[in-house]
Amino acid sequence: VGFEELGIDARLIRALKKKSINKPSPIQREGIPLILEGKDVVARAKTGSGKTYAYLLPMLQKLFSEIGLKKSAPSAFILVPTRELCQQVYSVALSLLEFCRVQLKVAQVTTDMPMPDMSAALAGPPDLLVSTPACISTCISKGVLAKAAIQESLSMLVLDEADLLLDYGYKEDLEGLKNHISRRCQCLLMSATLSPDVEILKKLVLHNPVTLTL
Ligand code: AMP
Repeated sequence: VGFEELGIDARLIRALKKKSINKPSPIQREGIPLILEGKDVVARAKTGSGKTYAYLLPMLQKLFSEIGLKKSAPSAFILVPTRELCQQVYSVALSLLEFCRVQLKVAQVTTDMPMPDMSAALAGPPDLLVSTPACISTCISKGVLAKAAIQESLSMLVLDEADLLLDYGYKEDLEGLKNHISRRCQCLLMSATLSPDVEILKKLVLHNPVTLTL
């Protein structure tokens, strides 16, 4: 099967072609239809499996349908363990959108940014925000991200490299964030291992998830 059969938008397929990506990887083949359907998904997926596109493609596609809607907080968060990974995922999202020619705003915030830069990145607000759990906690406690707005606007949450998120000590930040996430927010969890701790995180954040172990 190709990306068309998985239900991916022609604009995104065109962007993938420019990057010489023509055929979905197993995690993309299994994950994309489930995510487009709105299911919560847990995927045991290592770096190199194509996990980033597996969640980014359906996410961006869902955001396409919300363009122009007014909101006071991002519609989607991607949370990763490190600044480097944040930058990496942000760049991948930007480069896909560049070829799509749609007016979606993607931003990243990390704890090393001065507060005015963080506020500027969050003004608008962006449709998709890439960050770390600690930085989201900081933004909430400093009031640059309003809890009520997150509750109202956030419709997708991705926890990428969830095993590392726990290793880096982000459990409390994630527990805190969980309190501001509405029940209708779709949650995705990517992890290289499904350790008992990851299972606990899964139970904390996801609802009736489909688990993919590829
Ligand atoms: P990831 O597992 O998301 O870190 O992706 C690893 C690498 O695989 C990245 O450089 C992607 O550009 C590349 N990649 C992702 N999906 C595909 C695909 N379907 N076909 C070829 N390369 C891909």
